[in-house]
Amino acid sequence: MKVAIVTGASRGIGRACAIKLAQVGYTVVINYASNDAKAQEVLDLIKANGGDGMLYKANVSNYDEVKQMVKTVFDTYKQIDLLVNNAGIVRDEPLIGLNKENLDMCFDLNVKGYFYCAKEVALKMARKRSGVIVNMSSVSGTYSLPGQTVYSATKGAVNQFTKTLAKEMGSRGLRVNAVAPGFIETDMIEAVDEATMAKYLEAIPLRRRGKVEEVANLVAFLASDDASYITGQIITLDGGLSL
Ligand code: NAP
Repeated sequence: MKVAIVTGASRGIGRACAIKLAQVGYTVVINYASNDAKAQEVLDLIKANGGDGMLYKANVSNYDEVKQMVKTVFDTYKQIDLLVNNAGIVRDEPLIGLNKENLDMCFDLNVKGYFYCAKEVALKMARKRSGVIVNMSSVSGTYSLPGQTVYSATKGAVNQFTKTLAKEMGSRGLRVNAVAPGFIETDMIEAVDEATMAKYLEAIPLRRRGKVEEVANLVAFLASDDASYITGQIITLDGGLSL
């Protein structure tokens, strides 16, 4: 048995990751913030297909809640093999109109939340000298889109966090990578208006948005032994997007 924690797994990319990881044999901890019904749906689906897991409602931008979550998971299963740091938010607005609350929320979740989860889980993994962390970054960690000073900065931070942590933890048997998706069909990009999306589609050679399952496939690959010599990488999955 292998155990995975997927943060933000009630919807979108995290949901797809949880389902895929269960399909390849992981017992999956479905973390989420508020959407009980959606999270339950994911667990039900996993169980209906012969998989196993548990729900864990926690705000991963709160360190105490993260500590409690990791402790509960470890007490329950005695091991944690994979962390998918996925829960994230976007609050696009130009810097001159910046709302400090949004700034804090984005950094607290997209950056500090990743640190909190990784720190707690890495301690357990290091003792076992094995484990994998996959951080959900974004092409915004590399590309610069107006209105995304905050989001881009958080994802740039995720990229550097990934590369540095991989160096720190490699000798302890951990692999740490990031996935950087482009435009993926989830609630998060609902706010992008049709005209803007049409413009972005022109910059995507595959001429479509990505599917959550396509991101989940990459996460499952990075988690697997097939990726045993891959660490410290930011792997882009964006249909060839060029901005
Ligand atoms: P989404 O559809 O908006 O889903 C967000 C998930 O995060 C939900 O499960 C939500 O739980 C959970 N969540 C929100 N705040 C949380 C918190 N404080 N603690 C724990 N869980 C929390 O998002 P998505 O599009 O799948 O994005 C997932 C990740 O991929 C993010 O890191 C995002 O930056 C990245 N990404 C997305 C795209 C894209 O095009 N969609 C592109 C590049 C990168 P509730 O349901 O309970 O609210």
